[in-house]
Amino acid sequence: MTAQDRTGKALVKSSSPAGGRRTAPLRRSDIPRAGTAVRRAPGPGAVLGAVLDHGPVARSTVARLTGLSPAAVSGHSATLLGRGLLREERETTGPRGLGRPHVPVDIDTDRYLVAGAHVAVAHSTLSLLDLRGRVVAEDRRQHGSTDPATVLAGLAGRLPGLLDARGAGRRVLALGAATGHWVDPEAGVVVRHPQLGWRDVAMRDVLADATGLPVHVDSHSRALARAEQLVGQAATRESAVLLFVGAVVDAAFVTAGAVHQGPRFGAGSVAHLPVGTATAAGACVCGTSGCLQSEVSEPAMVRRATAEGLRVPTFPALLERALEGDRLALSLFLRRARHVGRAAAVLLDMFDPEVLVVVEPGAGRLPGCLDALRSEVGDRSWVCDDPERSVVPSSFTGSVLATAGAAVALGALYDDPLGPWPALPAVS
Ligand SMILES: [Zn+2]
Repeated sequence: MTAQDRTGKALVKSSSPAGGRRTAPLRRSDIPRAGTAVRRAPGPGAVLGAVLDHGPVARSTVARLTGLSPAAVSGHSATLLGRGLLREERETTGPRGLGRPHVPVDIDTDRYLVAGAHVAVAHSTLSLLDLRGRVVAEDRRQHGSTDPATVLAGLAGRLPGLLDARGAGRRVLALGAATGHWVDPEAGVVVRHPQLGWRDVAMRDVLADATGLPVHVDSHSRALARAEQLVGQAATRESAVLLFVGAVVDAAFVTAGAVHQGPRFGAGSVAHLPVGTATAAGACVCGTSGCLQSEVSEPAMVRRATAEGLRVPTFPALLERALEGDRLALSLFLRRARHVGRAAAVLLDMFDPEVLVVVEPGAGRLPGCLDALRSEVGDRSWVCDDPERSVVPSSFTGSVLATAGAAVALGALYDDPLGPWPALPAVS
């Protein structure tokens, strides 16, 4: 049956995930050159990326950083200034007034914002970020219902109020939307999210119709990997694995500077990696037991806490108890860290990334959890000999979900700043 919204428009659209999108064989010329980093892509995107990293910065320095000619940097800077994405800072001179004065450029954070929508199993988060990826506003609500039309209409309906209250007169360029499991960014569809009961939900079209904004969607793990590349840890630029541990457990991979999607956009399904022992307590929806998700997901943590006599209604309540120093709650997070460490060791051996980013509140906030996770990696990985350097917590601990949705829009903007962004002046 096709879900319908109030106007009768179909909410679902087939993305034919297994239908073979690629009709012609892959040719050598189709393959991007290895080692092509995001920031080394020529053109305005490279200039904007260099200013994001180093601004306020002189155009001559941008030329040195990007390998572009000074004339090309001047041209691209003028275009980006014209679009309101860059601004000029006050003129400066060299030490003691020597040298030619120059006017540095920086990202203009005063004119535009990107909005974010993240749909979790129990709640949804609406957010506003400035063009440096800083969270300006965040609004989280529990789901009354997980019906896709209700959830998406709720998110869209809250945006004007949040913008009025916290936007400080800035305009929204685009809305990014993210959720767990399997998302097809090309079709703009949530292909499958078993815990929400969503299948082939046309998230992009529904949100675009409801908000009038350009909408970009992706999986939250890929979105957070892109956010790390843009405004998080520079070590993620070339190669990285991001492991997301929440109510949903999934992953994303960065290779040769790009976040890998896979021809069906299903890359990163690590929920059923075997990390536990076969016990009734570790029974998984897949029919086996001891899977990563059935051992460490938020519902599994709450079930385990209850079984051990700690009465907590929700995962945030369990985390709060651990932060307050409750020994049983803390021990459950340490156990979680060791199980996540086992999965991290497998992923480090499989991909040998520059860095593995763990998105998990224990590793980010609780004493001993990151050490326990790294220690498990040290014991189990055949490839990683320096877990201190190779395994790091998320740059966005405390604002992960606010960052995830908006990062999809921010990534699209930095990939293509001259694209058709309706809020921006046309490129002259
Ligand atoms: Zn399983």
